[in-house]
Amino acid sequence: MSDTPRSDALFDRARAIVPGGVNSPVRAFRAVGGTPRFMVRGDGPWLFDADDRRYVDLVCSWGPLIHGHAHPEVVAAVQAAAARGTSFGTPTPGEVELAEEIVRRTQIEQVRLVNSGTEATMSAIRLARGFTGRAKVVKFAGCYHGHVDALLAAAGSGVATLGLPDSPGVTGAAASETIVLPYNDVAAVEAAFAGGEQIAAVITEAAAGNMGVVPPRDGFNKALAEIAHRYGALLIVDEVMTGFRVARGGWAELEPIDADLYTFGKVMGGGLPAAAFGGRTEIMSRLAPAGPVYQAGTLSGNPLACAAGLASLRLAGAETYRRLDETAAVVGGLASEALGKAGVPHQLAYAGNMFSIFFTGDSVFDYDSARTQDVAAFKAFFHAMLDGGVYLPPSAFEAWFVSTAIGDDALEVISTALPVAAAAAAATGSGA
Ligand SMILES: *Cc1c(COP(=O)(O)O)cnc(C)c1O
Repeated sequence: MSDTPRSDALFDRARAIVPGGVNSPVRAFRAVGGTPRFMVRGDGPWLFDADDRRYVDLVCSWGPLIHGHAHPEVVAAVQAAAARGTSFGTPTPGEVELAEEIVRRTQIEQVRLVNSGTEATMSAIRLARGFTGRAKVVKFAGCYHGHVDALLAAAGSGVATLGLPDSPGVTGAAASETIVLPYNDVAAVEAAFAGGEQIAAVITEAAAGNMGVVPPRDGFNKALAEIAHRYGALLIVDEVMTGFRVARGGWAELEPIDADLYTFGKVMGGGLPAAAFGGRTEIMSRLAPAGPVYQAGTLSGNPLACAAGLASLRLAGAETYRRLDETAAVVGGLASEALGKAGVPHQLAYAGNMFSIFFTGDSVFDYDSARTQDVAAFKAFFHAMLDGGVYLPPSAFEAWFVSTAIGDDALEVISTALPVAAAAAAATGSGA
């Protein structure tokens, strides 16, 4: 440990040849400063970095790993699949099984497998446009739906973290087809439709998790379905984060929503790249080759990803979700208690077992209110937690994720780190 940490050396090598040294921006620690930790292995609730430091993982690969790292049944399923061959470019039994498992757990009738959440939302939007013959899409500020051109406006965490208003490279034409409205604001949605816009679809996160966790107000999602349908538009509910994490059937199981299309990702891939979109047969049958809306993928339904996803979903029964809920309540409660004792103003927000802490004394219900946070306090808190062996999302605008692998030993590490981190947040001085 006396030498340069391996993570620093790796980051130097990476920065020379990879923009910003990372393959997805928030990993670079820009919002919190310092060097990102290069992780070399995971085991249950633990992550181990290149310097062999151990952390309790409260990121869980940004949501997918509900059973923790390297769950033996998931690993065995991937190993067995790999031994049979990694990709065939043909239909395979595994993708039928994964699709059936998804359909069983949700109210969708047909599903198409893709490789990332971005691809799922991009394809769902294309399908909605093809189905309705209209161009415009309504999205909500602070909701992130992947880096789809049309959906990058006011896109939450990654963009908020970097302080970019929008992304260069997204054409005016693409941006002009997107109407961005405040989250949780039904009146704004009514007004957009009443204004006579030719809206193909409203897309929303089932519960917003990409500006920190901001649950939908009572009746918000229902109102979106009602308004969209009244005007002949579709509602796309993005469950890439919530799907199979907050409940067996995703957010739609906790709050029935009459959506037309749903997108999934993260948990359904069990830590490998897999995602999906689906809905009623009437709509899904417009997809090629059944219909004219084109959509394809060389590695879609990849056998390894399907094996990991299927193993992960098959493990995820009622007891899994009970444990995730319980652990989220305990960890969130401990964090809030520590911050309260240290006099740090904060809001603890839940959407099912996803949660986050906003470092603000004001209530948070949309993107503007989320941005009232004291980011300096979070930064101090984050680094003290990291030093204490707890890996939090390196941004104040991200959800914290738990796994069923978190037990007493991991909770002990978290409880020990929290008071120190809360004191560090309080010492930034901008607090109470
Ligand atoms: C993560 C996420 C995406 C994007 O998924 P990728 O696999 O990163 O492309 C889309 N929508 C939501 C709600 C997400 O949380």
